Amino acid sequence: MIDGYGRTIDYVRISVTDRCNLRCVYCMPEEGVCSISHEEILRFGEIERVCQILAENGIQKIKLTGGEPLVRRRLPELAAALKQIPGIKSLTITTNGVLLEEMYDALADAGVDSVTISLDTLDEACSRRITRRDELNRTLEGISEALKYPEISLKINCVPLGIPEQDLCRVALLARNHRVHVRFIEMMPIGMGKEFHGVSEEELFGILGEKLPRFSPYVGEPLGNGPCHYYDVDGFSGKIGFISAVSHKFCGECNRIRLTSQGFLKTCLQYAAGRDLREV
Ligand code: SAM
Ligand code: SF4
Repeated sequence: MIDGYGRTIDYVRISVTDRCNLRCVYCMPEEGVCSISHEEILRFGEIERVCQILAENGIQKIKLTGGEPLVRRRLPELAAALKQIPGIKSLTITTNGVLLEEMYDALADAGVDSVTISLDTLDEACSRRITRRDELNRTLEGISEALKYPEISLKINCVPLGIPEQDLCRVALLARNHRVHVRFIEMMPIGMGKEFHGVSEEELFGILGEKLPRFSPYVGEPLGNGPCHYYDVDGFSGKIGFISAVSHKFCGECNRIRLTSQGFLKTCLQYAAGRDLREV
């Protein structure tokens, strides 16, 4: 599938729910998150049908996301069905990890290729402040469980907020002893993110460079489906990556479309343009 700007589109990100068991300050308000009713969100059969049609049109990679995808009941069943679709080469999930420990085995059985876990800090008080919930330990249990499955690639996403207690070096150090890539995502001015300043990639280099060994640009095989650029760090098992949508715009290389939980196909994260597929 080639879009109007000549970009090859082969990747769809599907929000399977708008609900979440956390309330990260840059993503959702504390109160008043309007919960879409079950009838309004796409059923598994509808998601499968859309994915079959997308695969016939050149989509090869699917990401399940949200809200928090693991709060959607029977998610591994959906994952297994999508993985079976001819033409789908990769099925990945991005999750906050809170429900991951109990579900990992089922996700592995479903054939999930890669899991990304969001972890903004290893400090309990800071985690409570960012997520407005007390679930850090369950996320860490999810990461420990995930490390038991070497066949499933594992990444950590961390959004720097510019607060020292977040201790970004401590998060980055997870990649030293574990086979996990740690990626720092620049705060995007979307949703509640508009109220935060975030930390630019250049500033991050300064912060990480104070405590971590030498960085050198990674030039091997692509490590994922997106715009993250990675670095090797001396002595580290995993890589350190940066997704810098604001300071290093990557719209020219965009390869993705998005399906909302209600079936609206969005061509860009930043704009409302798209089409309601249920209506179609
Ligand atoms: N709930 C899951 C999670 O947190 O991983 C999946 C959905 S969440 C919206 C996907 C990713 O987007 C997370 O890594 C989260 O930190 C990131 N994110 C949310 N709002 C953001 C913003 N304003 N700027 C940058 N990243 C953001
Ligand atoms: Fe939930 Fe993910 Fe948003 Fe945090 S970033 S509130 S975990 S959807």
